[in-house]
Amino acid sequence: MANVKQKLLFRSKNGVCGDSVDGTAAAKSMSFEKRHGKVNAGNGQVPGRRKSLNDSLEGDVRDFLVNESELHTYDDLTKVNPVTPTTVLKCLQARYSARVFYTHAGCTLVALNPFQPIPHLYSLDMMREYHSAPQPQEFKPHIFIVAEEAYRNVQGQVEPVNQSLVVSGESGAGKTWTSRCLMKYYATVAVSSQKCQDTVERIERRVLDSNPVMEAFGNACTLRNNNSSRFGKYIQLQLNSSQLLVGASVQTYLLEKTRVAFQAPDERNFHIFYQMMKGATEKQRQEWEMPHDQKFTWLPNADKTLEEDNLQETVDAMISLGIETDKRAQIFRILAGILQLGNVNFSPALESQPCDLDEQSKDFLKKTASLLQVPAEELQECVTVRALRAGKQNVLLKPCSQSECIIRRDCLAKVIYAQLFEWLVTFINNSMCSDNSKWSNFIGLLDVYGFECFLLNNLEQLCINYANEKLQQHFVAHYLKAQQEEYVTEGLKWSFVSYQDNQSCLDLIEGSPTSIFSLLNEECRLNRASDAKQFRVRLEKELSGNNRMSWDKFSKQPHFIVAHYAGNVSYQIEGMMEKNKDPVPPELLSLLQKSEDPLLQSLFAASDTEGNSSRPHSKVVTVVSKFKNSLECLMKILHSTTPHYTRCIKPNPDCRPLTFRKEEVITQLEACGIVETIHISAAGFPIRVAYDSFLQRYGLIINTRLPQAQLNNNEGSEGGEEDSLGPAVQAILNTVQKNSNRFTNLNNNLMVHCGKTKVFLTHAMLELLEEQRDRVR
Ligand code: ADP
Ligand code: MG
Repeated sequence: MANVKQKLLFRSKNGVCGDSVDGTAAAKSMSFEKRHGKVNAGNGQVPGRRKSLNDSLEGDVRDFLVNESELHTYDDLTKVNPVTPTTVLKCLQARYSARVFYTHAGCTLVALNPFQPIPHLYSLDMMREYHSAPQPQEFKPHIFIVAEEAYRNVQGQVEPVNQSLVVSGESGAGKTWTSRCLMKYYATVAVSSQKCQDTVERIERRVLDSNPVMEAFGNACTLRNNNSSRFGKYIQLQLNSSQLLVGASVQTYLLEKTRVAFQAPDERNFHIFYQMMKGATEKQRQEWEMPHDQKFTWLPNADKTLEEDNLQETVDAMISLGIETDKRAQIFRILAGILQLGNVNFSPALESQPCDLDEQSKDFLKKTASLLQVPAEELQECVTVRALRAGKQNVLLKPCSQSECIIRRDCLAKVIYAQLFEWLVTFINNSMCSDNSKWSNFIGLLDVYGFECFLLNNLEQLCINYANEKLQQHFVAHYLKAQQEEYVTEGLKWSFVSYQDNQSCLDLIEGSPTSIFSLLNEECRLNRASDAKQFRVRLEKELSGNNRMSWDKFSKQPHFIVAHYAGNVSYQIEGMMEKNKDPVPPELLSLLQKSEDPLLQSLFAASDTEGNSSRPHSKVVTVVSKFKNSLECLMKILHSTTPHYTRCIKPNPDCRPLTFRKEEVITQLEACGIVETIHISAAGFPIRVAYDSFLQRYGLIINTRLPQAQLNNNEGSEGGEEDSLGPAVQAILNTVQKNSNRFTNLNNNLMVHCGKTKVFLTHAMLELLEEQRDRVR
């Protein structure tokens, strides 16, 4: 059954619809082609794959079904015939059962999480094997193919080209694992083979050691993943002109700092706190006010044992990165202070009196103050009394309600933690980054949270899903553009006509003059008490014209629904404005500036960065503005690089080994755009073979002597190849057609096109050529 959607994607100028349903990794071969100047078409495939007759049947010509017993042998989802979400799903399931975890999907690599260690798959030997292979893409699909492809592409054909590896997928799908794996790959293959004595100084060690530190501070155990990254990251591996790894830099996005002061049921705080609680020496316990039996409100589910709870590993990595003893001591003291702060509770406020603290809370507050090295009385005052500016000089003191006290306490913890995390990232950067003069190119690894749709969604999900929309747009544009460009340069008159892109969704979220972001920001600047219902009315009034926006008539909560490319998400409005403002009371900031702890002092030395209200008349920099800016920088970088996409899939929600749940997988295939990719990849002419390679391989179908002679004549000639080689290619195609009783439409340009320097083939045509080549050999 031919897929209608695919047919819409390509249409020749003369109005004939391309009906190629069969395809293979177009962009994958394209990038290799750049390097080698040609595609080595068809050979070196996985045994069994070429045998499949289904492969060589064409969709429109006859009905055909996937031979289910062979499904696991398909290395590329775009080759599954017919390519539909169902067949693709079956293929992935068959492969998963056969313990094959990687599959190409056109230019994308799909990685299924095995949820159990597969040691040999990532061994050093395996890395070397992929690295030293003349054509790694002929090996079994693997993340190392992507790694190696990017590595070789850096050199570029004309000039070096920076590369980006974009890893996406939902929480627990394996993004971070994959990024780590990629880093290990480069830290293994992109280093000088000469033994270096000074191992501490070796940059690759530092690059790898940045992972445990960032994960200790930025990852946490959630319902979805025991080691869930609560921030996004883009790390650039810097290579010198000899392709050696000489440094790295990292950029992080949206740390989920609320987790410091609030953990959902059955979830945990950031790993580092548990590491301290479990791994402290007796001396440290004293210093950190952390006796064995101490319970901390902000340390729930501490009885859960995770391999991530390894303080020593974090400390070792910190040492390797160059964080010195006294700095480490300061860091841990600050963290211990945060934990103490979480145990401080407030009694309800009496008439115009600040909230009181019971004896226990007073004690915790004192310990907090001593660990953070701030005066205890001032700390108490800061969290219980608000300072209101009246005019330029006068300050009015107003006691806070109990709930306001809690907000201020939590805010203090969050702002400290967020600044500390920033500091660490900066430190790590300074430690890994090489001198600008020493590196010439980079490979960037992007590990960002995937599309999220929970029961309740708020600003965090809006930002995350917005980022995913951006990435999806980049992906599709890159992919379609790459295909289209090649057709144009080769003189093929084909164009993409009906791809529905997600620009309207991006307009709705971030566009100007009016969008969700602009209205949110405006609301925050007005500096009035936020009213969710009022905001909902405003959104409807201003944005109901955008068909990506809707409302559930039956819902009582103020909300709005955005139709994302991956599905509809309902966002609650309550709390969204406050989150966007993310205000830090100036009293808290000035308290922290007074700390005698040198690290804490330096974290807040120039701190109007976070404290929006510390300068009431300055322009408010909202969370969405900041995020939009950092994302725009990222997109600029991505646009300047050659991207490679890896989509991680979580085969079951419970992280169970080797368990494949179809419903889960199909939702993710849709959410990460794989279904779309499959359609795009499979349409058109995914196989491109340079004329000389074509003759070299298929010349023997007509006459073994002719192509070789032609080739010799052509050696060293610049351009004009098609003039001399064209007739030979045409002769081969004619012969193939004559010999084939199955296909009659070669001349209708439905299976093959001759471009300026390349022959463009459907996969079916390739199979036909291979078949006839085998026959005459
Ligand atoms: P994400 O970053 O997408 O949220 P992770 O990379 O943290 O997910 O992966 C979640 C867990 O899945 C890891 O802790 C690891 O146990 C397991 N995992 C992921 N990828 C692999 C793999 N290729 N092989 C074995 N286990 C894996
Ligand atoms: Mg992660």
